Amino acid sequence: MSVMEIFETMEYGPAPEAAAPGLAWIKEHEPFGLFINNQWAKPASGQYIESINPATGKQLTKVAAANSADVDAAVAAARTAFETWGKTPGHVRARYMYAIARHIQKHSRLLAVLESLDNGKPIRETRDIDIPLAARHFYYYAGWAQLMQSQLPDYQPVGVVGQIIPWNFPLLMLAWKIAPALAMGNTVVLKPARYTSLTALKFAEIMQEIGLPPGVVNILTGEASQVGEALVRHPDVNKIAFTGSTDVGRSIRRATAGSGKKLSLELGGKSPFIVFDDADLDSVVEGVVDAIWFNQGQVCCAGSRLLVQENIANRLIEKLRVRMEHLRIGDPLDKAVDIGAIVSPGQLEEIQRLVNQGVEEGAVMWQPSWACPSEGYFFPPTLFTNVSPATTIAQVEIFGPVLVSMTFRTPAEAVELANNTRYGLAASVWSDNINLALDVAPKLKAGSVWINCTNLFDASSGFGGYRESGFGREGGKEGLYEYVRPKWETMATPFEELHIARDSTPSNGSGSVQKEDGESAFQDLALGSSDGYVAALPAIDRTPKMFIGGKQARPDSGYSRDIYDPEGQMIGQVGEGNRKDIRNAVEAAHAASGWAVGTTHNRAQILYYIAENLSTREHEFARRIVQQTGRPYADAVAEVQTSISRLFSYAAWTDKYEGAVHRPPMRGAVLAMPEAIGVMAVTCPDEYPLLGFISLVAPAIAMGNILVVIPSQQSPLSATDCYQVLQTSDLPGGVVNIVTGDRDTLSQVLADHDDVDAMWYFGPAEGCKQIELASTGNMKRTWVNYGHPRNWLDPIQGEGEEFLRESTQVKNIWIPYGE
Ligand code: NDP
Repeated sequence: MSVMEIFETMEYGPAPEAAAPGLAWIKEHEPFGLFINNQWAKPASGQYIESINPATGKQLTKVAAANSADVDAAVAAARTAFETWGKTPGHVRARYMYAIARHIQKHSRLLAVLESLDNGKPIRETRDIDIPLAARHFYYYAGWAQLMQSQLPDYQPVGVVGQIIPWNFPLLMLAWKIAPALAMGNTVVLKPARYTSLTALKFAEIMQEIGLPPGVVNILTGEASQVGEALVRHPDVNKIAFTGSTDVGRSIRRATAGSGKKLSLELGGKSPFIVFDDADLDSVVEGVVDAIWFNQGQVCCAGSRLLVQENIANRLIEKLRVRMEHLRIGDPLDKAVDIGAIVSPGQLEEIQRLVNQGVEEGAVMWQPSWACPSEGYFFPPTLFTNVSPATTIAQVEIFGPVLVSMTFRTPAEAVELANNTRYGLAASVWSDNINLALDVAPKLKAGSVWINCTNLFDASSGFGGYRESGFGREGGKEGLYEYVRPKWETMATPFEELHIARDSTPSNGSGSVQKEDGESAFQDLALGSSDGYVAALPAIDRTPKMFIGGKQARPDSGYSRDIYDPEGQMIGQVGEGNRKDIRNAVEAAHAASGWAVGTTHNRAQILYYIAENLSTREHEFARRIVQQTGRPYADAVAEVQTSISRLFSYAAWTDKYEGAVHRPPMRGAVLAMPEAIGVMAVTCPDEYPLLGFISLVAPAIAMGNILVVIPSQQSPLSATDCYQVLQTSDLPGGVVNIVTGDRDTLSQVLADHDDVDAMWYFGPAEGCKQIELASTGNMKRTWVNYGHPRNWLDPIQGEGEEFLRESTQVKNIWIPYGE
């Protein structure tokens, strides 16, 4: 055969990797136990479940099936270990993590073989991607363990973390979860997916090898209904980190609602792969191979929707078909194989069902002429053309080697088509015009955007979704915040201790609030003295309306609610908002979405202007606070002055919360850009009627969000007095919309609303639970206080980066250099 013929046919012989070392390791360890407290334990149930080799359909081994008794034992071990591990110096944790990374490298070939046997993915991928990246995560996070004390001095570990991982990248997902958790001083109970437990068990063995303290990492194999659910519901677990399907993510959100457990969800996707007509089509074809046939398309961020500019569509599709014809499918342990086996018969059936549906819905299906192996669970690479954007195969995550292609004419149409999905995990943009690519990238609703590349991952760069792809980030510095909480959260601050009880505020003579340590909370502020204020103002014969789209609007209900002072005297009335008012407010907010794309300088100017206008009315606002709360006048002045200072803080942050440039091990850079979340709902606390409102509204709008705000239910008049301040400060109409009324009724409508992207709720514990439960409709991001009031006067609790982080989501834009 001539070189030319070989080049044309791509014919080459098999290059098998030996299965023997992996099979021998399995034999040596049977029967597998559960890994609790650095010991192998028999499952309490006495039951074992089959682990199948998907490339043959035959049993590889059996693994222990844990149940809730084992979950109890593992959580107890993790809790005990946390007492020490949580206080272990960062340098010591870094040493352990360095050892883990080294040992993953030492066992890399065995891990790669086990992964391919267990999951069916090609050895080329496990050897070159899964295992090296897993090691890289432990190196990278060893660094954060070392730096935690200096770089996150105000944070502490969360505690015991329950981690539930899927089968598509078994060891890599374990590393994504365990590495940041240990780095930040947490202990872990991890459940691998039922189909793919073997590399997690080998990892457990590594924990013994390196002498990790007992109980820091516990690994429970078994079924979701026995292990996963028990872990999610366990009262002594402080956080759940989950990767998997959106449906299960939703059920976990419901199960943890109101519990105070921290939660991060990395869910499904239907990522667009956008090709403009000036892209290098040969590179694009290889990009598509990596986007949708990598790991048989069983990748949450697979580029499964090919969006091609119309004038090059035929040419690209033709090239793709030629390439598909040359893809090699077969034994995952063959180093020359491109596509391995699908993980299970169930997944295979589901792929086939969706492909059949695509054909029934009128799309044109194309598959290469060659046949798949008859043994095992294989599915050929599949390409759909003539796909309409609303059809099932264009909308639903197929999680297999199936690509659907559609066309667009203009960049604007490409963005619209790309964002026409309930997901938002990733996107690829292909164009030789960097200006065009960088213009499109921020417009895509996705956590990662790859420019002229695809499916690149690194520990340094955060990964995670927008919308129904979940919330929270894994990787990068942003991934650390999923595993820490502010140090002040341990300091119990029961409501009464905040000294803001309505009529019993202790005074130090000048009327300022005393902090627990005896210092004046307002000592840094120049306090005004009472200027002839009369305590018993007559009731105000005036009803502030709603504030919607920059205008005052009458409540749809036609009803008003009475507002009382602490003595029970009516001091005013506000509109009784209802569902219709909320709908109008959300609509008005969407119409103001240009706020996010305006300049940061402009947003800063407006925040300063709001502060300026508030300061000219300082005494009027202070009197209003006194009237509503009964607190001393000087305290009220301090509240107004702190509000002004807070507006200055966020005006300052507007152009300084900039993100980062990551340097993963490649020729290129990753821009980590914090972006506005979109339309946010904000329910304000009752304590500090003005400061509570400003402390939440200012950071959210500083970062470019548009808001629907429910002011304090008890004392809404400070917020409604702000209408004029906002109107006279050049804030565009619709950026802040205010609806007064029953806090929980209105909040519920907002939490249910699918056009609201995130919700903050500062109110009673039961309300927090209801918000978390209702948020599952569109998997909106929530931030609630679980009924624990903050001391809003304290800058550590009431302002700062925590608020900015909650106001943004990080988009990582990957930009490789060079030809
Ligand atoms: P699941 O979401 O069901 O499984 C992921 C993990 O969660 C597994 O460890 C599973 O355990 C566990 N789990 C399942 N149900 C619960 C529960 N109620 N409480 C706690 N843990 C639970 O994914 P599937 O394996 O069923 O795959 C179905 C679809 O999910 C795929 O077709 C794909 O669309 C999507 N998926 C997305 C992934 C991603 O990376 N985002 C990864 C995997 C799947 P067990 O294995 O024992 O069932």
